[in-house]
Amino acid sequence: MHADRPIWVRYDLAAIGKSVSPRDFSARPPTLWRYSELLPLSDPAHQISLGEGMTPLLPARRLGAYCGLSDLWIKDESQLPTGSFKSRGMALAVSMAHRFGLHRLAAPTAGNAGGALSAYGARAGMEVFVFMPEDTPTSIQAECQSYGAKVYLVQGLITDCGRIVRQGCDAMDWFDVATLKEPYRIEGKKTMGLELAEQFDWRLPDVILYPTGGGTGLIGMWKAFNELRELGWLRSDKMPRMISVQSDGCAPIVRAFKNRERFCEPWQNPDSTAWGIRVPAAVGDFMILDAIRDSNGCAVAVSESAIAAAAQLAGRLVGVSFCPESAACVLAAQKLLADGLIKPDERIVIFNTGSALKYLSGPQVDLPCLPADKPIDYAAL
Ligand SMILES: *Cc1c(COP(=O)(O)O)cnc(C)c1O
Repeated sequence: MHADRPIWVRYDLAAIGKSVSPRDFSARPPTLWRYSELLPLSDPAHQISLGEGMTPLLPARRLGAYCGLSDLWIKDESQLPTGSFKSRGMALAVSMAHRFGLHRLAAPTAGNAGGALSAYGARAGMEVFVFMPEDTPTSIQAECQSYGAKVYLVQGLITDCGRIVRQGCDAMDWFDVATLKEPYRIEGKKTMGLELAEQFDWRLPDVILYPTGGGTGLIGMWKAFNELRELGWLRSDKMPRMISVQSDGCAPIVRAFKNRERFCEPWQNPDSTAWGIRVPAAVGDFMILDAIRDSNGCAVAVSESAIAAAAQLAGRLVGVSFCPESAACVLAAQKLLADGLIKPDERIVIFNTGSALKYLSGPQVDLPCLPADKPIDYAAL
């Protein structure tokens, strides 16, 4: 085992296939723990839970009609604890930390991972240290503080935060919960794929569009689909094409995919308001690229300047708060359709990985302000 490379959890799938069947899951409580046989932890005493899992899978007819897609779905992860899919990974990572008797956790974050780690750490009664770029939205800084975490801003990028955590582990007695530095966040994120399969009655969609930063979401789902296939639980052998979406302000995966490379070059001067995918270098870059290629998918960069408007449009046409990362996926769907890489009648799923409300930074929203002591000019509203 190479110390700098990720650890991959393996299961005795033959034994699991004999002990449980997909039908059993639907009878269990609607949290991600219903898939305990496919998770590294089944003892409820160590499950650190905030009720995470089983997010809605919503048909998006109006957004689909706008894009020219007749079978478009949104898996709305914004409804998870702390408002993003990061809760899935942190629920597992903190539960396993609890199982192993750890008390002090630290992580670099672009934002949402810090919020989730702070919440689950608080739930478990642990000490949490989070390090985030100084321009991380103040709403997330406040969120982490509200769970009692020690929060530090860093004059740099998430990769600089990662180095600060790594180098401090010995002196500070921290366990590093950074993406792919421990094996369990992937296992938590895998449950997005398990839920999707169950919600579609064990038939997978044609295409999954996923905003990619560190890549655990995409890698985890691809792992889930392969485990399900090996278990023989899928009604059709057809696997989805995994599509990695990035902003053209930070697109290392897209560049490596186009250049047919196995690893990514770090992206210089990354610039994106889609914080979760502003990741200039991913530890698991080769795993992301493997999943994309094994699935016959691709990687797409969309225009950074179009993301904010796309988020508003998607919010209006679906009724959920679209984070900028997922708005990028809406733009990617339109681009892929125009390029003939997806077909109008294919079953397409976009993951809304978090709520836009996570990213408020003070009074920046430009709204009209009405006087309280004068008559309102209703015709002008
Ligand atoms: C972290 C994050 C992403 C990227 O997810 P990875 O699994 O790290 O690639 C996408 N969207 C949001 C909202 C995030 O917080």
